[in-house]
Amino acid sequence: MEMITHNLVGISIQILCFKYFTFPFNIILTILFAFASHFIVDAFAKITYHTPERLEGDKFWLIWHVIILILSFGSWIFFFIPFWLGMLFANGVDIWDWWIFRPIVKKRIKNEKEKTDKKEYFFHVGVDYLRKILFFWLPNWNYKRYAIIPELVVICGLLIFIITHLYF
Ligand SMILES: [Zn+2]
Repeated sequence: MEMITHNLVGISIQILCFKYFTFPFNIILTILFAFASHFIVDAFAKITYHTPERLEGDKFWLIWHVIILILSFGSWIFFFIPFWLGMLFANGVDIWDWWIFRPIVKKRIKNEKEKTDKKEYFFHVGVDYLRKILFFWLPNWNYKRYAIIPELVVICGLLIFIITHLYF
């Protein structure tokens, strides 16, 4: 799913871990649960608007991604202190796969045949596996525009949880 969703999941996990565990378990469990959460959250991505390719000519795609980008970076700035830890590890799988592993694999691939043979991601293989065994029954809405609704519902739900825990 989108970075904003992972960020909010990471923040929620950190809130709960710091509420129910003492040092150093609050930190250790935040790291573990936040990292693990990525697999579950991404496994649900089938029912969200998530086109595998970029559709820059598509106005809807463009506006949605601008909104997501603003929300993602806004949440980093707004919640950075003290929730950088939960947010960082909730995105750990993407940071490794897209920003570290993929560029390395791409550099190593020399010809076209190798390109189709080699997986360009590492942890997301686990996400695919989880999706197959747990969520095979979910419909694939990756190209459906209305599929922004499930993601928005999750984002709003998490925001309500976070705000009620922080301010009330
Ligand atoms: Zn991911």
